[in-house]
Amino acid sequence: MAVKSILHYPDPRLRRKALPVEQVDDAVRRLVDDMAETMYSAPGVGLAAIQVNEPKRVIVIDLSEERNRLQVFINPEILARDGEQTLEEGCLSVPGIYEEVTRPNRVRVRALDRDGKPFELEAEGLLATCVQHEIDHLDGKVFVDYLSRLKQSRIRKKLEKREREQEAGAPRRGDATGRESLAAAAGRIRSKM
Ligand code: ZN
Repeated sequence: MAVKSILHYPDPRLRRKALPVEQVDDAVRRLVDDMAETMYSAPGVGLAAIQVNEPKRVIVIDLSEERNRLQVFINPEILARDGEQTLEEGCLSVPGIYEEVTRPNRVRVRALDRDGKPFELEAEGLLATCVQHEIDHLDGKVFVDYLSRLKQSRIRKKLEKREREQEAGAPRRGDATGRESLAAAAGRIRSKM
């Protein structure tokens, strides 16, 4: 297994539409394992293959406190949506940015598991948001697309500036910068997807 590097917004490669997996073989399982390791080490609660520059319809999610309940969705499809909720979302591809997004609070999903076996799942609450956030990635969409144009351009400038600073050799900054405390940053692991 290997930790892969994560593409950062506004990288145009995040805008590609991921292609369906034709056969769940060892190469796909290797990708799943690498994605899980990348998500756990980030740390985050969800990751789509496109975020590690693999334009395939593969998602991993783990919302458990113990970080031992990996959920794998290959070729996921949303069959039904219901209700509404507003949750704070972050994204491993948009580091340090957290914004509220309104989405359906219940979705029915169909996908293949790590062995290529089909399953259906009723997702609610944070899992429903996470599944929709990750499926958006597979369609070339990032959660900041739901924000106002003004906010989007502020976020883009902020991240481009940070990227330039890092290229210039400035020390890498995590989320716990400025006024945000370490505790607040730790609590936010649950919104990084
Ligand atoms: Zn994301």
